[in-house]
Amino acid sequence: MSFVKVTRITKSEEEWRAQLQAEEFAILRKKATERPGVGEYTNIQPPSGYFACRACMTPLYSATAKFHSGCGWPAFDKCYRGAVRAERDADGRRVEILCAACDGHLGHVFEGEGFTQTNERHCVNSKSVRYVASPAPPEFTAAEGKCV
Ligand SMILES: [Zn+2]
Repeated sequence: MSFVKVTRITKSEEEWRAQLQAEEFAILRKKATERPGVGEYTNIQPPSGYFACRACMTPLYSATAKFHSGCGWPAFDKCYRGAVRAERDADGRRVEILCAACDGHLGHVFEGEGFTQTNERHCVNSKSVRYVASPAPPEFTAAEGKCV
C-alpha cells in the first residue's frame, strides 16, 4: 500500500480568511456544509484530471474516482491515500474527511452503502475542492485507493 507524503501547511485564521471567499472559509475552516444540489461540481463527470484542496491545492481525488451518488454533493469512491485524513466526529456518528496538508474540512465519508466496489462514499463540498484538468503528480496517482 502506497501513501503520499504531503507537505503540512499552517496558516492563521486571519490568513485563511484573507485568502478564501466567505463561503469557502465557512466550509473549509469552520466545517459548514453547502446546500445539496447547488455545488458547481455536483453533476460534472470529467474524464481526466483531479480535484485539489481549494485552500492549499494539494491533490485529493482523481476525476475518475468521482461517481454520481444522487446525494446532492460530489461523491468519490477513492482518494489519494495520505492526502485525505479521516476522523470520527465528536459525537461518534459520522467520519469527517479533511485535507491532510492544511486540515481543511472536505465533508464526510460513508461506508457500506454499496455504490461502488470500494464501498466508500466521500461526500465532499464543491467549495472544498478545485478541479484541475491536468494529470495529478505520479506520487499521488500511485497512492490512490480506499481511504478508510
Ligand atoms: Zn488543503
